[in-house]
Amino acid sequence: MEHESIYAIIVAAGKGTRMGTDIPKQLMPYEGSTVLGTAALKFASADNIDKVIIVSPSDGSLDGIYEKIVRDVAERAGTGSGTPVIVRGGKERSDSVKAGLGECLRLAEEAGNDPGRTIVLIHDAARPGVTEEIINANIDAMETCRAAVTAVPSVDSVRMTAEHSGKYNEKIAGNSSFSLKHSITYPIMNSNVVERDRVYMVQTPQTFMLSDIIKAYETADEGGYKGTDDASIAEFAGINVAIVQGSVSNNKITYQEDIPMTTRVGTGYDVHRLVPGRDLILCGTPVPYEKGLLGHSDADVATHALMDALLGAAGMGDIGRHFPDSDDKYKGIDSLKLLAEVKNMLGDVTINNVDITIIAQAPKLSPYNKQMQDNISRILGIPCSSVNIKATTEEGLGFTGRGEGIAAIATCAIEGRF
Ligand code: MG
Repeated sequence: MEHESIYAIIVAAGKGTRMGTDIPKQLMPYEGSTVLGTAALKFASADNIDKVIIVSPSDGSLDGIYEKIVRDVAERAGTGSGTPVIVRGGKERSDSVKAGLGECLRLAEEAGNDPGRTIVLIHDAARPGVTEEIINANIDAMETCRAAVTAVPSVDSVRMTAEHSGKYNEKIAGNSSFSLKHSITYPIMNSNVVERDRVYMVQTPQTFMLSDIIKAYETADEGGYKGTDDASIAEFAGINVAIVQGSVSNNKITYQEDIPMTTRVGTGYDVHRLVPGRDLILCGTPVPYEKGLLGHSDADVATHALMDALLGAAGMGDIGRHFPDSDDKYKGIDSLKLLAEVKNMLGDVTINNVDITIIAQAPKLSPYNKQMQDNISRILGIPCSSVNIKATTEEGLGFTGRGEGIAAIATCAIEGRF
């Protein structure tokens, strides 16, 4: 059907924390942005979308964060759809969708467009893996169909349970020859095989003519039908819904593990002056020498460089910010303790490897290499094989060459969800 404009509603009104975090899942970090920001960006930067409407929680608790997200999306999208519009949602998901549809109707009327010729794609914020290909497949389907739903064929074989999930089948329990000693209940499989080639896993976007889906929700409300998604509402109202090809990358993010890990690297550099009357400590190891490094803490230059590398990789600033030398708490402190604090601050990340280069004319450091490696490996909780420590001179050149100080450079790679 000929259309006049195309809107995308992104439903992000949930405050659910099924992921076991304090942050709603749509605000979890994803691809350098958030789950919601990434999903919104996909639509905002798609050539065929005229406007993106984001539905926010009804209580306004996330308004400030959402406003920041839409500004960021508008900046990065760089197309004609402009800044996404935010509207408050309702109590149930269906109320939130209706709020989004109301805004679409307002926009269509404002532009002088016919709601019967206005396409609306409804998408869950928890699917940031949506692609422009999927968006266009939905729009293309609307040339010949009245509604479209994104779905992927089931790869697993599918069965129904004999009863609703969680109910133990008493008859089978009664037939078993052993007695039940605990209260775990198992759903029992129905013997009927569901034909796999007819089973699809439903995703979003789900796409409709604006006037159709508004009317379908009214019909469902009148009939007391709740439905599970927008396509089921359309189906209830007698609209045929075409299935278009989705992708497993468009799967819903429900648990933290659903968010892909990414690798980041960091570098650190530090210098301390060599003076008489101080101990020389490198990577937590005392090295016998006529001089030691001057500093507020134990002046462990190598550990300091490593801490900066780790903080850098995590985008968390530097050690000066976290452990200011104006704070007496850190006077003479064992830098390995600070390294342990940095490791804690990183949270749920994997440290893949660290590589430290100590630049000193003297003393010879190779006899202490193993101990230094052991210390770092112990504090970071990573294998010794992931900790590389090396030393070099600068051929008598510069301040290290003249023995005025020691410098250290560190690099690390970490893996996490950023
Ligand atoms: Mg330092």
